[in-house]
Amino acid sequence: MEQDRGGGEIALRLNEVRENIRKACERVGRDPGSVTLVAVSKTKPVSMMREAMACGQKDFGENYPQEFRDKAKELQGEDIRLHLIGHLQRNKVKYVIGDACLIHAVDSVRLAEQIEAEAEKRGLDCDILLEVNVAGEESKFGVAPEDTEALAREIAKLPHVHIRGLMTIAPYVADPEENRVHFRNLRALAVDIDGKNIDNISMNELSMGMTGDYETAVEEGATLVRVGTGIFGARDYSA
Ligand SMILES: *Cc1c(COP(=O)(O)O)cnc(C)c1O
Repeated sequence: MEQDRGGGEIALRLNEVRENIRKACERVGRDPGSVTLVAVSKTKPVSMMREAMACGQKDFGENYPQEFRDKAKELQGEDIRLHLIGHLQRNKVKYVIGDACLIHAVDSVRLAEQIEAEAEKRGLDCDILLEVNVAGEESKFGVAPEDTEALAREIAKLPHVHIRGLMTIAPYVADPEENRVHFRNLRALAVDIDGKNIDNISMNELSMGMTGDYETAVEEGATLVRVGTGIFGARDYSA
């Protein structure tokens, strides 16, 4: 895939992704308004984010807390929402609290406690998702499916932290159909936990699906899809 995309290219790709989401919704009888496209802009310059913003894009996903902080500062006052989608270390929580509309990848009580401490200090509330390692991949962060409810119950006790649902990073596969079972399982887990009616927990959000498999994820109930390459082109990590 080409590295640099010219002006109109982002608009074209964005519209293509939106259209694919709409079609996926149509196939399963979902309202396209129930799916939020999070444009993953990590490693990409603010100028590219502004191009997407010019096409009405409001939700952006970042992975790296310092990059998140710098972009939040630069885009202060803009009508956008910044999501922190990547793994978060406890000592980096301070960079994102207050500016992140949603922290997608919480997978431990200790991290949640750090978020609680920072949120309380600033008099804020913080919405989070629990990251679930659906395929049991050793290389991945995330709580095991069978431990998710217990983790949710512990985090639910923190008054400034609010669990809104689940998130997963599915395996990298050539055929998105291979991930359908994982998306389905994540949704089933959310329905299961929702049924326990735990105080301070809602399970309305399912963050799943990336460039390679977001259409399948939408068919299986994703409410947030995180698409980077499909909008902004391949990333260059050499810098
Ligand atoms: C980078 C990243 C994405 C976007 O990946 P693409 O394949 O470029 O769409 C989505 N989610 C997370 C957690 C990521 O780190």
